Amino acid sequence: MGIDEIDLHASLKKYFGFSQFKGLQENVVKNIVQGKNTFVIMPTGGGKSLCYQLPALMQEGTAIVVSPLIALMKNQVDAIRDVSSEIGVAHVLNSSLTKTEIRQVKSDVSSGVTKLLYVAPESLTKEEYVDFLQGEKISFVAVDEAHCISEWGHDFRPEYRNLKSIVNRLGDNIPLIALTATATPKVQEDIIKNLGITDAKVFKASFNRPNLYYEVRPKTQNVDGDIIRFVKQNSGKSGIIYCLSRKRVTELAQVLQVNGVSAVPYHAGLDGKTRSKHQDMFLMEDVDVVVATIAFGMGIDKPDVRFVIHHDIPKSIESYYQETGRAGRDGGEGHCLAFYSYKDVEKLEKFMSGKPVAEQEIGNALLQEIVGYAETSMSRRKFILHYFGEEFDEINGDGAEMDDNTRNPKEKQEAKDNVVKLINVVMGTSEKFKSKEIVRALTGKVNALISSHKTDEKEFFGCGKDRDKGYWMALIRQALVAGLLKKEIEQYGILHVTPAGKDFIKNPTSFMMTMDHVYNKEADDAIVS
Ligand code: ADP
Repeated sequence: MGIDEIDLHASLKKYFGFSQFKGLQENVVKNIVQGKNTFVIMPTGGGKSLCYQLPALMQEGTAIVVSPLIALMKNQVDAIRDVSSEIGVAHVLNSSLTKTEIRQVKSDVSSGVTKLLYVAPESLTKEEYVDFLQGEKISFVAVDEAHCISEWGHDFRPEYRNLKSIVNRLGDNIPLIALTATATPKVQEDIIKNLGITDAKVFKASFNRPNLYYEVRPKTQNVDGDIIRFVKQNSGKSGIIYCLSRKRVTELAQVLQVNGVSAVPYHAGLDGKTRSKHQDMFLMEDVDVVVATIAFGMGIDKPDVRFVIHHDIPKSIESYYQETGRAGRDGGEGHCLAFYSYKDVEKLEKFMSGKPVAEQEIGNALLQEIVGYAETSMSRRKFILHYFGEEFDEINGDGAEMDDNTRNPKEKQEAKDNVVKLINVVMGTSEKFKSKEIVRALTGKVNALISSHKTDEKEFFGCGKDRDKGYWMALIRQALVAGLLKKEIEQYGILHVTPAGKDFIKNPTSFMMTMDHVYNKEADDAIVS
């Protein structure tokens, strides 16, 4: 290929002014310049854009970058134009261009000036563009925000599903680069399958953010008071407070203002001018706090956000990770505080009830994971990273002390015998039940599903009666994280026993279980009943 390491570093310096690659960038770039399919999984801020921009700038031909957001594409194009003397080096191709502009883009691509061509997936399906691109030299196709391919991602876009067939029409063996900040194994599997890149080399960075402190507090009637106290204790620091509804955003912003906190609201119901004014006030530090719906945050790059509070529990661990990820970007303090009440979970379930069944089931499975996070007594960092398929050593790992559960450990109890019971029940019910039914089988509670499988006639039925539902739910979560059980997310949460779980019952060892918080007894009943 003729591109060696010296070239890579020289080009990095030339185009971006950086003297070193960040994290996995160098290996990713090498893989791409060798014309190989590549899959990049890095948290937001990890430096994904450079991974495809640099190879595109160094290679012949035009790289097509598929991206879902026009605003982000424009920012990227401006940034690339800044580093090159040629304005035509990067273009956006979309329906808002005039005929003259489209002609210019086409001529720049054909003459080889354009190295990066950003397109929205829906534009790429247009015959006119496909016809044109078929005749051009394409260096590779980068699919940014590739999680949009998966229904299990947080931003499913059906147009993303057709990308593979379009790329096939553009030419033979065009390398594909998928990039995402979504680390869940399920979403990754969908991306690889859908783009047909089973041979892709996968580059996955750690999702651990050691400087973030994770805390969950029960949400009481006086949550506003709790938030005011927290913000006042952190006065002068920048923070974001997320609420589920626009109404709550407005109310809470007012309550904070009345209490002397400099805060502004932000949600999609405000007019564009007010929104950008409030966003700028926050970025320029004219206000400390922005109270917002999730409409706030995309592309916000304020390095010194010191806290992110969730007034309501978010809809998945994925969203929680993204939203809290806006804290402590500079590596400094970042306090992530979530208020949790099971009532909020029921509200979210209700929101979903109008949606198609498959979507509801996915939504509920994701919601149960965040409930697990809120209720767990184990290291919250370990819980999050486990969800992302990453191991974390809660004693020596980077950031091990940085959560409420680790700082104030809950009581631990030996649960060896109960783990054996649990695994036996999962196996004895032929691995076809979700947590709820397993807990019923353990506690001896019949329902239609249990009796239809005649589980109530089994000798193990009710073998865990001496403990309540909350205890068993907690033990299941901990056995999952310990890798003794696993959940088939594709089957919406059916529990299976892993080989490690099978070894455990053959040769049981000590299993110190952390007793979970029971924030609210009613809530606990609601999970299991
Ligand atoms: P992502 O797309 O993964 O969220 P970006 O591509 O926006 O991340 O990069 C995040 C930040 O890191 C940007 O400000 C970018 O300029 C910076 N960056 C990327 N690569 C390097 C590098 N090799 N050295 C220094 N800064 C870098």
